[in-house]
Amino acid sequence: MFENLSDRLSGVFDRLTKQGALSAEDVKTALREVRVALLEADVSLPVAREFIKAVEKQATGAAVTKSVTPGQQVIKIVHDELIGVLQGEGDPGKLKIDNPPAPILMVGLQGSGKTTTTAKLAKRLKDREGKRVLMASLDVNRPAAMEQLAILGQQIGVDTLPIVKGEDPVAIARRAKTQASLGGYDVYMLDTAGRLHIDHELIAQAAAVRDVANPRETLLVVDGLTGQDAVNVAEEFDDKIGVSGVVLTRMDGDGRGGAALSMRAVTGKPIRFVGLGERMDAIEEFHAERIAGRILGMGDIVSLVEKAQQTLEAEQAERMMKRFQKGQFNMNDLKMQLEQMQKMGGMEGMMQMMPGMGKMQKQMAEAGMDDSILRRQIALINSMTKKERANPALLQASRKKRVAAGAGLEVSELNKLIKQHRQMSDMMKKIGKMGKGGALKQMMR
Ligand code: GDP
Repeated sequence: MFENLSDRLSGVFDRLTKQGALSAEDVKTALREVRVALLEADVSLPVAREFIKAVEKQATGAAVTKSVTPGQQVIKIVHDELIGVLQGEGDPGKLKIDNPPAPILMVGLQGSGKTTTTAKLAKRLKDREGKRVLMASLDVNRPAAMEQLAILGQQIGVDTLPIVKGEDPVAIARRAKTQASLGGYDVYMLDTAGRLHIDHELIAQAAAVRDVANPRETLLVVDGLTGQDAVNVAEEFDDKIGVSGVVLTRMDGDGRGGAALSMRAVTGKPIRFVGLGERMDAIEEFHAERIAGRILGMGDIVSLVEKAQQTLEAEQAERMMKRFQKGQFNMNDLKMQLEQMQKMGGMEGMMQMMPGMGKMQKQMAEAGMDDSILRRQIALINSMTKKERANPALLQASRKKRVAAGAGLEVSELNKLIKQHRQMSDMMKKIGKMGKGGALKQMMR
């Protein structure tokens, strides 16, 4: 149905050559695709625009990791930024329910899943935290809704406040409060009336109940499939009633979760729970990274990227280890090592990552091999012929002159490099002989 963002981006980046860093042009191209993906996921236009701006700033000039494509890299930056926006402070699943009986006010439009969510949360509090919960329906206009809560209560073993005909919502809230105190309940949950649309009466009623109950949490239940509408509803409710968090329902459906991002960006309210079905245990606390993956239309992209990186490095190390064990260490190997060192933040960074390499580090320092020299040594190797690289013993007087001149350097520098190579080659042989599972394996890890 939706084209995967990573497919889309790899198409874009196939046409670009890989460079050392993401150029402004690369980033712009990629972010056009990201923007489409966000809009398809139901993120509102102004939110998508703002988001793209933030990512653009971060991504431009970011270093390109060798084993990850620029497309994957942009996705990772987008993904991390998504999580940054989605993530609220603290534990979303932890409801404020100290000082019993703690009131929780449930608000939202009719059909959003408010009654179902009330029961789901009550069951969760009972099962996970051993709390005694009392639920009360305040939907006096819809007797069926009151019945529904009572039935759900029976199903999950949670008490509901007995229904008294003709009582108004504020009176019910008062009675629930009294009953919760007298009955020794830890929590009482007020399931307010919903309408199909927000209107004055709905808000006034919820506000009146709020003033009586003084809730510790006011949770707004919104249908995650309604996209932009959900954001308007959230803004309105928060403005008039004040909410402490949002529950997104129907996230088991086709919705792409964009509403979560818009809602968070527009209202600043944390998303606390996600409804994942009709069953009473189909609710979980909000995980920013899951929604981020969903908005981007893929699973866990970060672990994917990290895995790609690890696999590549492991493969390289394995190949090198095999060669060293056979005593093969030519100028190509040395060049690869030198380049690796450059990538890993120079000599020191490299040595710190290799246990037991103190001696080698000392030898290198004695040979005058510091970070500034890496580039020159690579230039010297580049100046050698294929045969010379594979067999450095070929490098005699006239060849040396040619190679040094080709790199614009003195023969004495080349001599140092050759000596360096010989020393490292000897050491690699020794280490290789120390056993397959031994020091070398350690070192390459
Ligand atoms: P209310 O009018 O807001 O109280 O909505 P209800 O709680 O009565 O829910 C309306 C319908 O949505 C019911 O059939 C619920 O079973 C269903 N529902 C609620 N939450 C979810 C959810 O997270 N996923 C799915 N698939 N259905 C849900």
